[in-house]
Amino acid sequence: MGNYAKDLSKRFKHVGKGQSRGYCVICGEYGKLVLDHVPPQGSITVTKTEQHLITEVSGMNLERKIKGIRSPNGSKFRTICQTCNGERIGSGDDEVKRVHRAISDQVVAYYAGHSIYPWASVRFDVSKYLRAMTGHILSATSSIECQKEQVSSTYFDPLKSYVMNDDRRVFDTHDFYYWFYPYERHLSAKLVGFFNDGLTSKLSLLSFHPIAFMITEKDKSTYPAQASKLEETSKNLTLNISVSNVKYAPFPFIELEGNQFYMLTDYLCTTSKSLI
Ligand SMILES: [Zn+2]
Repeated sequence: MGNYAKDLSKRFKHVGKGQSRGYCVICGEYGKLVLDHVPPQGSITVTKTEQHLITEVSGMNLERKIKGIRSPNGSKFRTICQTCNGERIGSGDDEVKRVHRAISDQVVAYYAGHSIYPWASVRFDVSKYLRAMTGHILSATSSIECQKEQVSSTYFDPLKSYVMNDDRRVFDTHDFYYWFYPYERHLSAKLVGFFNDGLTSKLSLLSFHPIAFMITEKDKSTYPAQASKLEETSKNLTLNISVSNVKYAPFPFIELEGNQFYMLTDYLCTTSKSLI
């Protein structure tokens, strides 16, 4: 039993089994909690998946076979209320789905030799896209966060207000970046502390093929050279999809060098992978 328990994902303690009520991690209301799919349904081909904490499939745990949480229909988090799931995030999910499908089709066409230009681009509604992606970053967390009232946070409050009320002041406090993500594994990291030559910054990530998406504190963070920034007025999402552009690690997103490192709370950072 001892060894068996050691080799189970710690994520099992964070799915809120038997806990159908709690505080929504977006609006803070107490009530029934529903499942949020991250990545959102329709943006990827949903298959049988296995969920782990990111720390369990990286670094010194790479050689271990830790049993993750299996699901027949994608990676899920029971951390938000029906209103946040259905209306606040849900109203933008179709746009996320459309953007990811359109970029995926162009990636496939490029690697099949049907296009010689290593660029993929789609016209989109930036507000719908950003609010849905931000909402999923907030929801992809441990059920432990739902057991107590939400506390105020200078990092998370503007993000919550943006998802709930389309509060554009978020562009005064945060930056949004994206880049090509050619990996099969999905990553969600609600909060990572990044240290770069004495400067510290907070960031959040949500990456699933073919786009990596990152939120950072405004004008403070390190971001990969190939990243593009999304502005309030952006009309297109455009990516360089050539392999020559893939010189970075899937997580945190660059090869750490010199005086760079990151810190995270393991249960805030989850990964899932198709089992098919
Ligand atoms: Zn809510």
